[in-house]
Formats: sequence, C-alpha cells, structure tokens
Amino acid sequence: MNNRQSNPDPSLDPSALSERIHSVRARISAAAQRGHRNPSEIRLIAVSKGQPLTAIQKAFSEGLCEFGENYLEEALPKIQLLSPAVTWHMIGHVQGRKAKSVTENFPCVHSVDSMALARRLSRFAEEDGRTIRILLECNLSGEATKYGWPASNPSAWKSLWPVWREIFPLPGLSLAGLMTMAPYSDDPETSRPIFRSLKQLQAAAREHVPGSDWTELSMGMSDDFEQAVEEGATMVRIGRALFGARL
Ligand SMILES: *Cc1c(COP(=O)(O)O)cnc(C)c1O
Repeated sequence: MNNRQSNPDPSLDPSALSERIHSVRARISAAAQRGHRNPSEIRLIAVSKGQPLTAIQKAFSEGLCEFGENYLEEALPKIQLLSPAVTWHMIGHVQGRKAKSVTENFPCVHSVDSMALARRLSRFAEEDGRTIRILLECNLSGEATKYGWPASNPSAWKSLWPVWREIFPLPGLSLAGLMTMAPYSDDPETSRPIFRSLKQLQAAAREHVPGSDWTELSMGMSDDFEQAVEEGATMVRIGRALFGARL
C-alpha cells in the first residue's frame, strides 16, 4: 500500500479531502491523455464504504455526485441523508434476499454475478416501474475468493454468451457493461493485463451478445486506477485515494 493514500485522519480534514479529489481528478485526466482518451468518458465513482457521513457530504459539496457502496445496510442511512441528486452505485456482492431493496435504492449495480440475481433484480425493478443499469462482474484472475462470472480463460468465454443473451432482454434492466477487480498487489502494473482482458471480453461480448452496446467498463481502484484509465475504464471506483483509510 502506498503512503500517499494512508495519511493519518484524512477523512476528518476537509482541506485534505478537497486536495485529494483534485489530485485524483488530475491523475485521471493525465492517464486519459496517455491512453489517448477523452477524460470526459471516465466517471469517478467515489467509494464511500467505511467513511463517515460528514466526509461524504463534503465530497458531494466538492462536486462528487456518484458514490459506490458495498453493503446495503451500511448504505441505506447514507442514501436517506444525502441529497437526492446523488447517484448510488452498488459495487458489492448482492444476496438474493436483498435484491428488492437494492433495486429501490441503487440505479446502477456493478456486481451482477449470476442469472438468478439478474432475474430477481429484473422482477423487482419491473414491479416498481424502474429500469436499473447493470454491469456484469467478471472474475478474470481466476482467484477462488472473487465473485464474478468465470472469465479467466478466454476459451471459456463462449459458455457465457448464452446466459448473457438471456440477461440482455430482461425487463427492468439495462445491460450497460462489465466490471472487474484486479487481484491485490503492491505493483499496480500487475492489474494491467486484467484490465486488458476485460476490454477484450467487452469486444467479444459486443460480437456474441448483440443488442447491448456494452459501453461501460468499471475497473480500477485507489492503487491501480491510472492503469485502468489507460486501458479503457469508463468508471473508476475509488475509495481510499479520495477519503483516506476506512474506519
Ligand atoms: C472497496 C472497493 C473499491 C474501492 O477500493 P479502494 O481501494 O478504497 O479505492 C472499489 N471497488 C470495489 C468492488 C470495492 O469493494
């Protein structure tokens, strides 16, 4: 872990927070330029799990308006108290019994990792007259501890297409793209091949699962978002580099 991102008490010091936001934005823009991309294609999702409400409110007042949470119970009070102008992203594993509340509170779910979950989200969203954007979480590293569609071996991708073709037309859902998490490492360059694979998987999905434009690539966190942006991320999910260490 990187010292720059673990100063003491950062989430409680508002000036530190605003400096971090500026610094992360500048690093995203620079990475976009290196990757010959337009920085406006990249959305910063501020991951607010484990952060106090005051820090999240401050981040909102500094212009961040998209926040990511992993746990429904932790997110609900924040969603109640923050401005309705915030867009909330569910980025953590969703248990089936929580699918209803997730559809009611999160317009975007990055962590759709099974057909069963997609069906439940679809049913509840449709009953409620909503459409939620979903991303399919892919496990490209093959780590057994990771959730996601098994995709570490490109020769196995073909078994994903029939299932994903069934997800695409489900009512109440808009299939927007793919999400992944790279394995933990001290060297951010080890994430790059994972991000490249997600981009390749996106290209393959466009060909084999037509209908969706598969626009979104949600990849990159505090320690590897620059690599992710260079490799095509459209959403980066950043917690500690913005807010400092979690509670
Ligand atoms: C916690 C988390 C993040 C943010 O992690 P940081 O290292 O704090 O930037 C991003 N994505 C997911 C899925 C997470 O669980």
